Amino acid sequence: MNIYSATLEDLEHYFESIDEKKFKAIQVYDWLYKKRVKSFKKMSNIKKTVIDTLARDFTISQPKIIAKQIGKDVFKYLFELDDKAKVEAVLMIHNYGNSLCVSTQVGCNMGCAFCESGRRKKKRNLEPSEMVSQILLIEEDLNIRISHVVLMGIGEPFDNYENVMKFIKIVNCGKGIDIGARHITVSTCGIVPKIKEFAKENLQVNLAISLHAPNDELRNRLMKINKVYKLEELIKAVKEYIVQTNRRVTFEYIMLKDINDSKKCALELAYLLKGLNAYVNLIPYNETSHIDFKKANEDRIMEFYDVLKKNKINVTVRKEFGSEVSAACGQLRSNYEEEN
Ligand code: SAH
Repeated sequence: MNIYSATLEDLEHYFESIDEKKFKAIQVYDWLYKKRVKSFKKMSNIKKTVIDTLARDFTISQPKIIAKQIGKDVFKYLFELDDKAKVEAVLMIHNYGNSLCVSTQVGCNMGCAFCESGRRKKKRNLEPSEMVSQILLIEEDLNIRISHVVLMGIGEPFDNYENVMKFIKIVNCGKGIDIGARHITVSTCGIVPKIKEFAKENLQVNLAISLHAPNDELRNRLMKINKVYKLEELIKAVKEYIVQTNRRVTFEYIMLKDINDSKKCALELAYLLKGLNAYVNLIPYNETSHIDFKKANEDRIMEFYDVLKKNKINVTVRKEFGSEVSAACGQLRSNYEEEN
């Protein structure tokens, strides 16, 4: 097993299983995540026999950075994994901190009509270690600390549920990377049973729902998942989530020109979300060369915003990042693979 896939608890159990004190897990975490060493040999306060056992039972290996694009306030990385599969991560420099958009799968099976990642089928899930390493490698490359993590890169986090929960535990652990739960956001296209399961995890992590349409007719056209879990069912699950966790939910809404950007859509959306402890994030669409959708005009976006505001819906327009660095989810990977 790759050691970056182990939660602190996993390591504690491991040390107990080899008749060692479980506090050694904290020492190992300290070496990996505070001191950032990449070899067991360097863990100098752990005795040689234990180091040898660790090296027998675990690997310490990380993906490779194979491409990097730099824009204004944005860095985009392409990683090659052990099996040569490729995923990307995007770092955004905000005034409140450094936020990393992490990939959770190689490709995606959700097949959203506007999404570059969905054009290419899922090859496999990412291991926790492969998600953790996106953070570690970028922090090392830029010599910075990442303060926020959003699971909005390639893949559907709730289609890789177990590994994503492990990843969250590892990243959130105070003895390790120590990113606060409230600084972590999981985004889903709306896999209802997993939203229900997530509500029971008792985490302070943020949940974002990719909504993108205020009615089934339109959402069916944009997002295949809506044919499985209709809006009514989705909104009901979100309501239950809010009651159970007492946390506010974000709805993401990409603004697509002449598709979902009308005043009528805004009114329908306001009606759909009325009374919910929710927050709408209007996202200017990142156009990609393989897909026909266009970005909504700015005045249309502002008009949409105003309708929501007037109807007492909390709403913001997301700052645009990285249109100069092919920042649309999955674009760098597609460009790279199609060129090579
Ligand atoms: N599968 C998850 C997370 C990955 S996608 C989800 O659906 O939420 C992260 C967000 O980016 C989603 O809201 C998705 O709909 C959106 N997105 C996909 N392609 C985009 C594009 N070209 N421009 C802007 N947002 C896009």
